[in-house]
Amino acid sequence: LISAEPVSREERDSVDRAIRPTRLADYVGQPAVKEQMEIFIDAARRRDEPLDHSLIFGPPGLGKTTLANIIATEMGVALKTTSGPVLEKAGDLAAIMTNLEPGDVLFIDEIHRLSPNIEEILYPAMEDYQLDIMIGEGPAARSIKLDLPPFTLVGATTRAGLLTSPLRDRFGIVQRLEFYNCADLTSIVSRSGQIMGMTIDSGGAEEIARRSRGTPRIANRLLRRVRDYADVKADGDATREVADAALNMLNVDEGGFDHLDRRLLLTMLEKFDGGPVGVDNLAAAIGEERDTIEDVLEPYLIQQGFLMRTPRGRVVTRHGYAHFDRASEYKER
Ligand code: ADP
Repeated sequence: LISAEPVSREERDSVDRAIRPTRLADYVGQPAVKEQMEIFIDAARRRDEPLDHSLIFGPPGLGKTTLANIIATEMGVALKTTSGPVLEKAGDLAAIMTNLEPGDVLFIDEIHRLSPNIEEILYPAMEDYQLDIMIGEGPAARSIKLDLPPFTLVGATTRAGLLTSPLRDRFGIVQRLEFYNCADLTSIVSRSGQIMGMTIDSGGAEEIARRSRGTPRIANRLLRRVRDYADVKADGDATREVADAALNMLNVDEGGFDHLDRRLLLTMLEKFDGGPVGVDNLAAAIGEERDTIEDVLEPYLIQQGFLMRTPRGRVVTRHGYAHFDRASEYKER
């Protein structure tokens, strides 16, 4: 599966660091987000204040972490990174927060997975730069208050709806990332190819872009596999034909669907008569987590018009039937 999940640490560290844009000007696409962030960052800098707390949401691989890094760079401050599931105890968060310098960006990935007790510590920290924690246990326990430097919390989540409303309400800036169009992905692929020292023409870049599920992380990952294929089979020349052959070998179909997308849609067609089917039933039928369906698979399939969410469950659209040459079986629901 060419998933949008992060890969091994080494791969992230070396190649990923080189191709991840560090300035807003290099952040491709997302015009509305870019325009707004440019203004908010400029305004905060002029007033010599930290940027307002910012929430970024969107499916995996669309550039949330990248944007958090860019915010820190553009503000001229350091970025400290953590994530919701990693923060187990109040002390974990306190340790990170008390290490912040004035203006720093604290990035919390998967912020929807914070435990409720950590979330409560976050509220006064976000509002008044106050840390309120209990130390010790039983009768000896006491609460201590610490002042924090002004900082910016940047939270990332796959779906805004997963956040509790008190947490969501404390973000002054909320940005939603959209799937990228083919032109934007083509320029991301071309830029990455150049940084990786590849020979890739515009046809090769476009072929990868077209089949990357609208997602930069997938585009960059497919690019690396196309490079392998081109090096071994085509003297390193990544043309459209070479990219096409490599992607076919990887089971990325013409529509850009990988085998999990196809399994989801085919299961719906074959076992559930095209739906409606509830997401839990679907998860059981394909042997995947419900979250994977809701965060990773479904958003793109819905955006592309292959799947629909209805009050009675998910249904395959006419377009979805047609993709599998079953247009004649489609019935209005
Ligand atoms: P997320 O945090 O949303 O899962 P990342 O920020 O880690 O996604 O993005 C995945 C990779 O895709 C990054 O390493 C970066 O190279 C690339 N990328 C993401 N957004 C952009 C963009 N707007 N322009 C260029 N490259 C991007």
